[in-house]
Amino acid sequence: MKALISIDYTYDFVATDGKLTTGQAGQQIEQALVKVTQKFIDNNDYVVFAIDGHDSNDQYHPENRLFPPHNLIGTSGRKLYGQLAEVYETNKEKSTLYWLDKRHYSAFCGTDLDLRLRERQITEIYLTGVCTDICVLHTAIDAYNLGYQVYIVQDAVASFDATGHQWALNHFKNTLGATLV
Ligand code: ZN
Repeated sequence: MKALISIDYTYDFVATDGKLTTGQAGQQIEQALVKVTQKFIDNNDYVVFAIDGHDSNDQYHPENRLFPPHNLIGTSGRKLYGQLAEVYETNKEKSTLYWLDKRHYSAFCGTDLDLRLRERQITEIYLTGVCTDICVLHTAIDAYNLGYQVYIVQDAVASFDATGHQWALNHFKNTLGATLV
């Protein structure tokens, strides 16, 4: 069984005036990301929207020292960007869709994602979203350590850092044994 993990494709990470944006690189993957997400939904495969959520009063969070405030809970910056928002709204009542709040880069860190995947006998996960070399990378590393077969949907991941993006693609393939599709 397989699942699609859709990571952090929100206003703050994608829109031109987002708080921590990937800008054009992120905006350019919108069509491919929407297409693959819709395909998984239509096929009744499990689709997880793993979305960063921060609290501006959380003084202990390590990201507070690294990045400006972003994806704050309750703000529009945390809404899904572009057509992906419509895809989610249209299908969110389906039992195969799951909104997962995460506090750290990896979708597995401090969440019930591993349990939910195992309950469904899912062994293959397809990663999409942003940033290739931060949240997608950390999710892929955790998935590798937990024994999942990882697929990266190459035209549906992006980063603000082109060098980091390319480095991560190589790392997925050569070090994590992932397949770029
Ligand atoms: Zn964050």
